[in-house]
Amino acid sequence: MTRRLYYDDSLLTEFDAVVTGCVRRGDIWLCALDRSAFYPTSGGQPYDTGTIICPDGRVCGVTDVECDGDGEVWHTISGEIAAGTPVRCAIDWDRRRDHMEQHGGEHLLAGAVWRHLQGTTIGLHLGKDDSTIDVAFPDGRTHLTEDEITLLEKQVNSWIRLDAPVKCYFAQPSQLPGIPLRKPPTVTENIRIVQYGDFEYCACGGTHPPRSGMIGQIKILSALPSKGKVRISFVCGERAENRLRAAFRVLKELSDKLSCHWGDTPEAVRTIQERNEELAREGVRKNEIIARYEIERACGNPVICGERQIALVMLPFDDKKFLARFASDEAGRREMVVFAALKPAEGVSFFCMCRPDGDPVDLRKMIAPLKAKGGGRPEMVQGTVPADEIRARLAEAFQGM
Ligand SMILES: [Zn+2]
Repeated sequence: MTRRLYYDDSLLTEFDAVVTGCVRRGDIWLCALDRSAFYPTSGGQPYDTGTIICPDGRVCGVTDVECDGDGEVWHTISGEIAAGTPVRCAIDWDRRRDHMEQHGGEHLLAGAVWRHLQGTTIGLHLGKDDSTIDVAFPDGRTHLTEDEITLLEKQVNSWIRLDAPVKCYFAQPSQLPGIPLRKPPTVTENIRIVQYGDFEYCACGGTHPPRSGMIGQIKILSALPSKGKVRISFVCGERAENRLRAAFRVLKELSDKLSCHWGDTPEAVRTIQERNEELAREGVRKNEIIARYEIERACGNPVICGERQIALVMLPFDDKKFLARFASDEAGRREMVVFAALKPAEGVSFFCMCRPDGDPVDLRKMIAPLKAKGGGRPEMVQGTVPADEIRARLAEAFQGM
């Protein structure tokens, strides 16, 4: 079984080892060492990457690390290294440090959730961008308030600022009753206790910083319902620093554009939204005035189509909702067929109606020469026609216009 060096020293990045086995799996090789500081994926924390260097200078990149049921750690490499070869190994410190920051922050967040809200953390997922924990609460709730989120964040950050020592040690089952674990261990032997100061105790086999201050900071991103529990998303350490920098950059750009202090941005956006809504309402009022003028003009100079009179209205704006309402209302009021269309750049949308209680007429036949995309009923048709063909097609449909 591989001796795990990270149990005793999570800051160890380079070490010597001897290859104890190397097996092929398809295009890759799995290499076992007598001792290793590489962390294998487990407990929600991803594997370490790094290099294994052979005595002849050959450098093998470690692209995955996993642990088998016997506790052997297997390092994924691209070529074979013979058993018995002494090697020099190095892990990717930036990746490991990042994982320790997220993982350590998760312990403190789970501890704060337990202490203040009596929530039990079920699982950890350490993602490429954000990390999450799922928390079950005694009352079964699936939400946290903004005040509760702030409470958790402040608690974790205060524990981080304490820069408390982090102790990791193996405990006998008989010792467990004397250790205030926030939840029972999931294993029955080789129980490794991770203790942050005197405020967070949990059984865990992961890599942890030697002091809480190394976590840097936590930023809780959200707390959302997930399968009857609360999923809390968060970032720690450098990720939190980067996230806050990016968020503040966006906020600054917005406040510069709005010419206000960043703290006044929400109010400035609300003012713009209200102004936009007022402008939209004003636009509808103006469109109605224009449409009324156009329909009066069209009724005074109708297009004759056999025994029918058609009010041909071209509306100089693009509002399909308005078009449908306008044509229906006007058709109910007028003796003639109302053919109303919008005048946009590409396709002309139209709505054609006659009085429901007027002489029966099949508008579908009347507008057939338009060759429009659309359809409808005898007393109502709608569709679209390419803008550059509307005139010719209308002339054909309503001969003599
Ligand atoms: Zn842990």
